[in-house]
Amino acid sequence: MADAHFDVLIVGAGISGIGSAYHLQDQCPDKTYAVIEAKSTFGGTWDTHKYPGVRSDSDLYTFGYRFKPWIGAPIASAAEILKYMGEVIAENGIDRHIRYGTRIVSCAWSSADNLWTVTTRREGDAADQVLTCRFLWMCQGYYDHQTPYVPDWKGLSDYRGQFVHAQVWDPATQVAGKRVLVIGSGATAATVVPAFCDAGAQVTMLQRSPTYFYCHPNQNELADRLRQIGIDEPTVHRVVRAQVMYDQDVLNRRCVEEPDAVFEDLKTLVRAYAGDDFAFEPHFTPRYRPWQQRLAFCPDGDLFRHAAAGNVTVVTDTIDRFTPTGVLTASGEVLEADIIVACTGFRLTVMGDIPFAVDGQAVAWHDTVNYRGMMFTGVPNLVWVMGYFRASWTLRVDLLGDFVCKLLRHMDALGVAKVEVTLRPEDRDMAILPWIESDNFNPGYLQRGLDQMPRRGDKPEWRHNQDYWREREEIPAIDLDGAEFVYDGQRADRNALQAAE
Ligand SMILES: Cc1cc2nc3c(=O)[nH]c(=O)nc-3n(C[C@H](O)[C@H](O)[C@H](O)COP(=O)(O)OP(=O)(O)OC[C@H]3O[C@@H](n4cnc5c(N)ncnc54)[C@H](O)[C@@H]3O)c2cc1C
Repeated sequence: MADAHFDVLIVGAGISGIGSAYHLQDQCPDKTYAVIEAKSTFGGTWDTHKYPGVRSDSDLYTFGYRFKPWIGAPIASAAEILKYMGEVIAENGIDRHIRYGTRIVSCAWSSADNLWTVTTRREGDAADQVLTCRFLWMCQGYYDHQTPYVPDWKGLSDYRGQFVHAQVWDPATQVAGKRVLVIGSGATAATVVPAFCDAGAQVTMLQRSPTYFYCHPNQNELADRLRQIGIDEPTVHRVVRAQVMYDQDVLNRRCVEEPDAVFEDLKTLVRAYAGDDFAFEPHFTPRYRPWQQRLAFCPDGDLFRHAAAGNVTVVTDTIDRFTPTGVLTASGEVLEADIIVACTGFRLTVMGDIPFAVDGQAVAWHDTVNYRGMMFTGVPNLVWVMGYFRASWTLRVDLLGDFVCKLLRHMDALGVAKVEVTLRPEDRDMAILPWIESDNFNPGYLQRGLDQMPRRGDKPEWRHNQDYWREREEIPAIDLDGAEFVYDGQRADRNALQAAE
């Protein structure tokens, strides 16, 4: 006997979970639901990360939801994003549906009952709680919030200074006057390096390989102009979103079609902050195409202003070993430091590392094939919200919100309790491949965890194509009566299913 039953359980109260809750209660107001969140508060990523300067890397006109205007500078601090999310929760009464401090520890599907049984655990409680639901909306993100990824460095335990990963940074840490060594040069390093410089630290950034940076003032001229002439905020939001998405689309295509020209443009933007004689070799000339890894944003050119002023020393090298006082690089350089900050990324988790079972069989996600990066063969009544790497994550939260609500309404109309995706006869000979091709997007955490991720096919339906501009047409147009959807064990044949009712 379950402790409580819901139509839908949403896992996680990050930007995906809160957006999904909004769409569910807006588009399917008759559905009962709860949001289950392991932390004591909402925000997910924006609550976990507390390093100096923590901010978005995308503009908030697209990282914000489509239904709530963003009023502020395009790049926002974690605190500003949390405030925005808090308003969404309060304005829509979502708070009463969230169960904080509650971790899901297992999910089991029964085809006999067409139900998920979800076991939850609260710290301090004597016993686990058991919830049941018809549908699981997985918004648990893609990485372990407790344990960051730290490479297996030689001699790390010999180091006598303070070693910390940026994901678990203690905001009480003082860096003024200290020698701080930052390991990494992605978006996190690009944020902490200028913040440490501003706080009066002597900073060295050690990178294995260079990153592309996009320098731009932290303002949107179109938004400012529209406001100046008295346009209302919902219209500003809609128009500026369209502008940002258009510009990103053009940039993405140019990165593939003319990467060298894009790099020249990126250099011009850097020079506006660092001066015409700024040297890009060797530390700022990457080996890959722009956008093959996330293009790191530099609001107001902060990193380059500090680099040009000599406030940060950049070293491109690999680590041979840690020493009691710092790091010895492969080329023999000794980098002494009082504090070493690893910006070395995440430990990928698939479905939050929650053990899943379907009809008594453990689910091995790698044995499933993903349907458009959101549903999985052999796993009924479940959608995972995995956003975009090259566009704001939240654009997909809104798209999938519409999709899930349409699917739930479709199931109601058919009078069915179970939906599953399946390979169609024409997919029988389709190549089954890893989740994403390595030349499309290859950040370290994804490469390290690729063998745990669901697999993809070589047809558009069977992969997460990471292309918002295609998906915004394709996802709303999905035919829910298509042969890839199986309802209650039968192919979708609306008439036959309704006749059976
Ligand atoms: C520092 C940083 C900056 C970023 N900046 C951007 C950006 O500017 N633009 C962009 O598009 N993307 C950015 N990203 C990617 C970012 O992770 C996503 O944009 C987005 O915030 C992910 O939201 P989410 O809700 O899907 O997942 P998360 O933020 O990871 O939230 C998942 C939630 O689920 C909860 N949860 C997980 N497992 C369980 C369980 N078993 N039981 C209960 N609860 C559980 C977690 O506690 C967490 O609160 C950034 C990521 C990082 C780390």
